[in-house]
Amino acid sequence: MAGYKAPLRDMRFVLYELMSGDELARLPGYEEFTRELIDPVLEEAARLCEEVLHPLNRSGDEEGCTLENGVVRTPKGFPEAYRQFREGGWTSIACDPAYGGQGLPAMVNVLVEEMICSANLSFGMYPGLSHGAYVALHDHGTEALKAAYLPKLVDGTWAGTMCLTEPHCGTDLGLLRTKAVPQGDGSYKLTGTKIFISAGDHDLTENIVHLVLARLPDAPKGVKGISLFLVPKYLPHADGTPGPSNGVSTGAIEHKMGIKASATCVLNFDDATGWLVGEPHKGMRAMFSMMNTERVAVGVQGLGLAEASYQGAVAYARERLQGRALTGPKYPDRPADPIIVHPDVRRMLMVQRSTVESCRALAMWTARHLDLQNRHPDPEVRRESEDFVALMTPIVKALLTDLGYEATNHGMQVLGGHGYIREHGMEQYVRDCRIAQIYEGTNGIQALDLVGRKLGLAGGRPLRRFFHPVAAYIDEKMEDEALAEFVQPLAKAFVRLQQATAEVARAGLSNPEEAGAAASDYLRLFGLTALSYLWARMAEIALAKQDDDPDGFYAAKVATARFHAERVLPQTGALFSAVMAGGKSIMALDEAAF
Ligand SMILES: Cc1cc2nc3c(=O)[nH]c(=O)nc-3n(C[C@H](O)[C@H](O)[C@H](O)COP(=O)(O)OP(=O)(O)OC[C@H]3O[C@@H](n4cnc5c(N)ncnc54)[C@H](O)[C@@H]3O)c2cc1C
Repeated sequence: MAGYKAPLRDMRFVLYELMSGDELARLPGYEEFTRELIDPVLEEAARLCEEVLHPLNRSGDEEGCTLENGVVRTPKGFPEAYRQFREGGWTSIACDPAYGGQGLPAMVNVLVEEMICSANLSFGMYPGLSHGAYVALHDHGTEALKAAYLPKLVDGTWAGTMCLTEPHCGTDLGLLRTKAVPQGDGSYKLTGTKIFISAGDHDLTENIVHLVLARLPDAPKGVKGISLFLVPKYLPHADGTPGPSNGVSTGAIEHKMGIKASATCVLNFDDATGWLVGEPHKGMRAMFSMMNTERVAVGVQGLGLAEASYQGAVAYARERLQGRALTGPKYPDRPADPIIVHPDVRRMLMVQRSTVESCRALAMWTARHLDLQNRHPDPEVRRESEDFVALMTPIVKALLTDLGYEATNHGMQVLGGHGYIREHGMEQYVRDCRIAQIYEGTNGIQALDLVGRKLGLAGGRPLRRFFHPVAAYIDEKMEDEALAEFVQPLAKAFVRLQQATAEVARAGLSNPEEAGAAASDYLRLFGLTALSYLWARMAEIALAKQDDDPDGFYAAKVATARFHAERVLPQTGALFSAVMAGGKSIMALDEAAF
């Protein structure tokens, strides 16, 4: 299996050169986050991911998790790796200093998350879910609950889960049945079954804090009757140590396609003691507050796996000797040329490379606005950034996981049959990546969120947070000859996006099925246009630095931008046609005809 090397050079390019990361330290609360502090954090994260987490990726996949006497065991090496992870302070980097966290900017956190996902996504699921629980509790818990639970979640001695899904209810949470009965002392007794719960049980921490959606006895039907509860696996003693077992048991662990070292559990709650988080019947609001960060985090899973797969594919393509270059032998002294000489192999590597570099830029653009939204002193700037994050979240989640999955498939294809068998680890990236298109709201649901909610939100205000800077950039650079090859195709794609937006809004008003039918193609069109804008900006920066380019980094950046403009961006034409064709052919068949 190919090793993993964190792409720190490109990460620094995106952070500092594209996204003005040096300005982070000007934001209140971020004063200490200068390059001098950020760079060593990234280097240390890279070391941990390369040397501790990645070596367990394959063995974790092969061994998987086991359920022994009602307790989940993670694969060999995971408990020790988690101990190192926790002791290194990695569970706390994105957490509030008031509870022992390090309060790192979202931009830095996204880069660290990318490395963890590349190195070992299954491992990353455990702290990832804890972070989701931390955010929900931090934003909505009572002071008493926060004081009792947050420091443990932050220092990683306890882990967390998010328990939403039930056998009969996934996307439509309004159907959920788990009950919560008040006990008159401020606590509740919860009863019900949750399925597919990531990190639902494991042997990495001394306690697990489940955040559970359930219904109160007087709850209205549907999503307006859902409340959020905190239910610990072990009820803590007054001194904070884990006490007796609560009524939570693991019924099974799922056997699944990928992320096999991440325990996906059926959890049974039998009169389990819990406490309300947030207001009664407002559980969905509490969920939504954490959704932006969590959905961006899932997008980053697609990015991380695409990067890992790209590295594996490049290493193999340099070594594997098959056939001769179409223009004649490039390595006449060898029995055949390495497959990296073949245009079709190059095509796949370039798709992977351009995907990874631009998706990283898009994730970081969104993270930059998360930082501004959280820290900027001017409320107007904060609101603008909040709009931007709301608009881009479904795009980051769906686009990065769709493109990430396609990229891992290309990586497997580069290795031919050796990609399909297990030895090189390339098929694992494909299997591991697939779930990211499904959980945290399927990508179809992300597309509906974009067209159904985000486009019309606040009279189109969020949409303008994207359209205005892109339009201004095109206006400013249209006459710049050096940038013409990037800006002119971007301008075309942008016009298509504007027309498609108007059409989706118009058709959707008279018939919501039209918007539903257009949604996924529209999201991809939007996403590819956003990537094209970022490529133009990256090319502009790189072109200006061509004279001082000893390692060829900037020349490679321009070449990759060119590939995107010529070979990827034209897909926006086909997507535009599909959106404009309307939804009739999608809905034409009678149900019985299927
Ligand atoms: C490995 C794994 C880990 C998971 N981890 C967790 C976890 O930690 N916590 C948790 O609570 N859940 C978790 N889930 C559950 C996951 O979030 C759900 O599987 C997902 O939300 C989809 O729900 P579903 O599987 O019931 O599919 P369904 O909701 O039944 O959807 C089936 C299909 O119909 C489509 N669809 C459904 N409704 C609509 C609609 N209104 N309009 C258009 N299309 C629609 C969907 O897009 C999908 O393609 C996990 C799942 C897996 C497999």
